[in-house]
Amino acid sequence: VLDNVDELERIRIYQKWNNIAIIDETNYLLLYQVIAATLLVIFLLAIRTYTISRYNRRLTDKNQQLEVLHLQLEQSNAELEFLSTHDPLTKLYNRHYFNRQFVHEHRATVSLEGAICLVMLDIDFFKEINDTLGHAIGDKILMELSSVLQHCVRESDVVARWGGEEFVILCHQTSVDAVKSLCQRIAFAIKEYQFSGDVQLTCSFGIAKLAANEPMQSCFERADKALYQAKALGRNQVCVDETHL
Ligand code: GH3
Ligand code: MG
Ligand code: MG
Repeated sequence: VLDNVDELERIRIYQKWNNIAIIDETNYLLLYQVIAATLLVIFLLAIRTYTISRYNRRLTDKNQQLEVLHLQLEQSNAELEFLSTHDPLTKLYNRHYFNRQFVHEHRATVSLEGAICLVMLDIDFFKEINDTLGHAIGDKILMELSSVLQHCVRESDVVARWGGEEFVILCHQTSVDAVKSLCQRIAFAIKEYQFSGDVQLTCSFGIAKLAANEPMQSCFERADKALYQAKALGRNQVCVDETHL
């Protein structure tokens, strides 16, 4: 059949079925609109990125400032904590801390850690030292004595400045005899130490052992009584309250 179709007819059929119209007409308006929209999106994204990075920078600065403030606050808190629990002159625990920690909460300490002994220590004739050498030397001697005390006690013992020229030592898990020899060691260390103003310092000691179920306050009173006895016996003495031994 195909062979019988003449050339003209073939062209006519070809043109009828192969009817492709090539439209060469570019829509420039649409193209410009797309480009403009794309540029706008890029511009908006750039502004957004710039704004975010600016806020990020500010945030980083603020975070750094906050960190510095936080460190300063921590430091101030540590200083405040130290000031509220320590004596500013000798840097030993103060009476307030000692009372809070050991006098009011002593029962738990007793049951957990066994025998407790208290030592009350008072410098002999300290007023005289102050009067002859001056208050500044007196202060220095108090600091020096504090370091002597801290060097003599065990790590588990607690030394505090009870007030003026009076100190207290709390010894855990120990016997009265061991505390007595601790006091003698302290007395010897004081004798050997070269205090400011070339003072020959001596101290009096009163010891009491905390009895079972005894309030710490009463133990303090007994240690104080023993100290008074040491003073009465001529000072530079170690006396033990024997009420509950
Ligand atoms: P005693 O042997 O009976 O204990 O006599 P003393 O002179 O040590 O006792 P007294 O209680 O008469 O005097 C204590 C003195 O301690 C009086 C006070 O001026 C002095 N004192 C108290 N606190 C401080 C202080 O922080 N610094 C100085 N330099 N002296 C102090
Ligand atoms: Mg004294
Ligand atoms: Mg005193």
